Amino acid sequence: MVEIERIEAFLVDLPTIRSHVLAMATMHSQTLCLVRLYCSDGIVGIGEATTIGGLSYGPESPEGIKLAIDTYFAPLLAGCDATRPAGAMARLAAHIAGNHFAKSAIETALLDAQGQRVGLPVSELVGGRVRDRLPVLWTLASGNTALDIEEAEAMIERGRHNAFKLKIGKRRLHEDVAHVAAIKRALGDRASVRVDVNMAWDETTAIRGIEMLADIGCDLVEQPISRHNRAGMARLSARARIPVMADEALNGPESAYDLAVHAAAHVFAVKIEQSGGLSAARQVQAIADAAGIGLYGGTMLEAGVGTVASAHLFATFAALPFGTELFGPLLLTEEILATPLHYSDFSLEVPTAPGLGVALDEDRVAFLRRDAARATLSLPSAQTA
Ligand SMILES: [Mg+2]
Repeated sequence: MVEIERIEAFLVDLPTIRSHVLAMATMHSQTLCLVRLYCSDGIVGIGEATTIGGLSYGPESPEGIKLAIDTYFAPLLAGCDATRPAGAMARLAAHIAGNHFAKSAIETALLDAQGQRVGLPVSELVGGRVRDRLPVLWTLASGNTALDIEEAEAMIERGRHNAFKLKIGKRRLHEDVAHVAAIKRALGDRASVRVDVNMAWDETTAIRGIEMLADIGCDLVEQPISRHNRAGMARLSARARIPVMADEALNGPESAYDLAVHAAAHVFAVKIEQSGGLSAARQVQAIADAAGIGLYGGTMLEAGVGTVASAHLFATFAALPFGTELFGPLLLTEEILATPLHYSDFSLEVPTAPGLGVALDEDRVAFLRRDAARATLSLPSAQTA
């Protein structure tokens, strides 16, 4: 039997190319929890868990994810059959509640290793690929209307993105809508413009806001109200003239089922981390398909590893009417992959090599590790002390 020998989890801090302003946090950097899963046949699988703004987006922080993997996941998986990722995930499910982001990183590493072992890309292990490219939108979140328009024009010009998501909800409603309207007016039919409110509105604000956004040509509204207000999402979905998408409210198959039963969204932002891994996200997709809910491939602004893992899953979706937002690596100043992911023609190419089809740039990652950086930085101060 090929056994899981050990698991290593470590943190990497990377600056973003500009500040990224969301309703709940302003990001200047991103912290990844990267995972290496060592197997007794010499194969090493990699995975990533990444969230937004420490603990401001969800209940798991990068530091907490590493702690959970080191303390609870690794001992449970040591000695398990590495050739059966589903068996390993079932073992985790039996002993570990929640911790969806950590579970996603581990399942990614298990599937990467198994794909390398059997010579198949991860997309073929999780249902079978139906597409080789994924449309990718860009998020305009500089917080400045003129800068956002300039950024969008440059993206269209370069053939990189022609769909844009605007992060709103921080300012007063009429200011936010004026911001969206100015961008939509500048881009016209050359681009799709959508908004993500990140739960910042109450229901009455959302009723007015969605009406106003529909009037100015906005194509979609993402998570306008609290993740807990499912009844409110259903009322908004029933009256909205543009699609309402669930994101924060979607935390795996159970929540997907609940949202579908109550007609609380027109579109699901499927995320492997929020769902609890690739298999769980595939169940979310199946529920959406069965309920006639549209699909969108979401991101937690992961770097290359988490992004490519998501891409492998989304490449198996027969219908993906709202595209994806798998631009995470493009928001970061540092590349962690030996060969960067390939973006062109408004889309991302899904790698075809076995496993995830990517490798870490080991030297760069060794340099960027939080523990390595600390050791390097402490040296001069220790000498001067
Ligand atoms: Mg969102």
